[in-house]
Amino acid sequence: MKKKRIVIKVGSHVLSQQGRLARDRIMNLCDFLADLMLEHEVVLVSSGAVAAGYTKLKLDKSIVGNKQAIAAVGQPYLISVYQKKFEKQGIVVAQMLLGADDFDSRRRTRHAKNTVEILFKNGVLPIINENDVTTTEELVFGDNDQLSAHVAHHFDADLLVILSDIDGYYDSDPRENPDARMLKIVHDINQEDLEKMHTPNHEFATGGIVTKLKAAAFLLSANQEMFLASGFDLSDVRSFLLEGQHKGGTYFKKALS
Ligand code: ADP
Repeated sequence: MKKKRIVIKVGSHVLSQQGRLARDRIMNLCDFLADLMLEHEVVLVSSGAVAAGYTKLKLDKSIVGNKQAIAAVGQPYLISVYQKKFEKQGIVVAQMLLGADDFDSRRRTRHAKNTVEILFKNGVLPIINENDVTTTEELVFGDNDQLSAHVAHHFDADLLVILSDIDGYYDSDPRENPDARMLKIVHDINQEDLEKMHTPNHEFATGGIVTKLKAAAFLLSANQEMFLASGFDLSDVRSFLLEGQHKGGTYFKKALS
């Protein structure tokens, strides 16, 4: 199999449970990433700083400023959880805090890309999160879906994988419609679909399917690919990336013309 550059983004619903870090799921994720790193170059975009921080600093999370403070406490703790686990697997991890502004500047993007290339050459796993102290994008809107799309694009990734609390993209919200069908392959996302999903309720939720579709639309327009699969049960993403078998999950890929 040809070596690929893969960005894996994991959402806060996967990484946390009842407001704390979901340790078992994190350990499974790390095992999967370690397997993936045997064959590919891997970047992890990880949410979870708020869940990690809340156990140490219990402030009212409905206030955005408080969430930023909690995230500042949680980020080093989150990294230490990854670091301890990966150390046992002989993998060194790096932390990179990036925001949309960094990708607006060519110079900053070049520095970040250069760093990532050196980390790859040395077998290090870069773990990326937004700098929650200077922005509120992740905490209020995107749950890192947009950031991970920028990371995949600017770091020339072959694929962005979003691991979510849902196992793929459905023709309607499966939590509301029991007859919803999962789409295995999506070639393009039209504006109508994006707007249809953009209810006021979704607009202020962190993450949600809209931000994932926006990430996919952005990558498809750049002729790049995205895969959306469950982060609770990693069997579909394992099959897809390690065995080359598409059993479940949605593959966003431009149609061959
Ligand atoms: P994460 O925290 O993993 O980033 P979210 O929970 O924010 O993910 O977003 C995924 C959720 O979006 C699903 O659990 C589902 O309830 C909702 N959703 C709405 N419409 C759809 C759809 N068409 N297909 C899949 N999920 C959908």
